[in-house]
Amino acid sequence: MTWVTDTNTDLERQLIADIWTSEEPYLNLLELCDGIGNRWAGSESERRAAEFLRAKLDAYGLANVRLEPVSFGAWERGEAVLLMTAPVEKSFSCVALPYCPAGEVEAELIDVGEGEEDDFARLGDAVRGRIAVCAAETNPVGRSAGKLSHRTDKLRRAVDAGAAAFIFVNQNPGLLHITGGIAGPGGEPAPIIGVGVSWETGSAILRLAARGGGPARLRLKTGGRFFTATAHNVVGEIPGATRPDELVLAGAHYDGHDISQGALDDGAGTVVCLEAARVLAALPRDRIARTLRFVLFCAEEVGLFGSWAYTAAHEDEAARTRFVLNLDTAGRGRGGSEALTLTGAPDLVDYFRAHGGAAKYDYPVRHNFNAHSDHFPYALRGIPTGTLSSPDDKSTLVGRGWGHTEADTVDKASLRGLQMAAMTAARILLQVAQDDDFPGRRRGRDEVLAQVREAGLEDPLRRAGRLDLIGGR
Ligand SMILES: [Zn+2]
Repeated sequence: MTWVTDTNTDLERQLIADIWTSEEPYLNLLELCDGIGNRWAGSESERRAAEFLRAKLDAYGLANVRLEPVSFGAWERGEAVLLMTAPVEKSFSCVALPYCPAGEVEAELIDVGEGEEDDFARLGDAVRGRIAVCAAETNPVGRSAGKLSHRTDKLRRAVDAGAAAFIFVNQNPGLLHITGGIAGPGGEPAPIIGVGVSWETGSAILRLAARGGGPARLRLKTGGRFFTATAHNVVGEIPGATRPDELVLAGAHYDGHDISQGALDDGAGTVVCLEAARVLAALPRDRIARTLRFVLFCAEEVGLFGSWAYTAAHEDEAARTRFVLNLDTAGRGRGGSEALTLTGAPDLVDYFRAHGGAAKYDYPVRHNFNAHSDHFPYALRGIPTGTLSSPDDKSTLVGRGWGHTEADTVDKASLRGLQMAAMTAARILLQVAQDDDFPGRRRGRDEVLAQVREAGLEDPLRRAGRLDLIGGR
């Protein structure tokens, strides 16, 4: 291992100084959130954001800046009505989960707890024909270890158990609806109606149901429109001086949820990625060994459509992609809480820990093979990936915190948090681009399949028709 901080000290000092004397990422975030809007997949504001990002990459002097079109099944929100019809009549506020089919259903409710496998095993056939009320997050405050079932895992279990509809309950108080896509793999409508409610609404429904006076029944009515849309991945690069064929890729998704500003998820990661691109592009070009490519992905929140399309269109580059750094939710919080989660490359945990030590900027590193952001299409192809995120460790919120609610707004972000994440990201990218002894390696089909199986992802991938992507070409 050769550490940049020891061998290219001047380069590293230049990029750190550049980050700490600029408010560029915060200004970019304000423009994305307050100027452009939520950037919902397939919307006009997403298209305007793509143009904005392209202009920024151009202005920073990146090469081969371009928009790459992605066609996908899009969804636009309609009405959502939630009524308790028995034992008392009461109406509640809810939002349709994106890609919820339009329709109407009335049935008894059933509390499926956290929606984990053992919850559904315990309830067995009792779920059939009922409306499943399910906690959005499994882990209590302060506990991040253990299995984190994703919304789509919980929905799939409810569908398999025969549920008539799905109600997803925010676990953070504050009268905030929780949202999150439930599309089929190609943007098809979900198999059952799914809505998101606040902690307070979920609690009230379960309290009223427990009061007695007969079985508790709910009625749900949802609208919404499905259509085909074209969005764009925004791409630019810094060509390598000596090994231009070898790629180090950084990415972040710039789309956000339609009920929010998408400021933390993932406006923050987007501007962190832009900032890393800006400061790395300002370094002497003849000193950067390998090509640094930056991809701002569209349509992540609705099914990773941007990164599925990008990896498919660039299949021939998989063998020469060294590392992918995903910046989904980097730059949230107060700064200084950046953490790297590797997916598919447990052998790199020690490498990045040692890098933090050498850089005199320790960041926690762990391995967790998970499917829920744009690193995943790469990890499936056996390419080493890491996701840099900045959890707000002072917060008492669980799970995504403000993410996926109306409260994901730009007031929660700070220049300091964005600077610290950008500095960490830029240093990691420079390290991997320069290190001739980087120990990362591409995994073959059997090895990735074993990782997929261990993570319980084989069945979901088979259902999505994506098992063939394992190991890539
Ligand atoms: Zn995200």
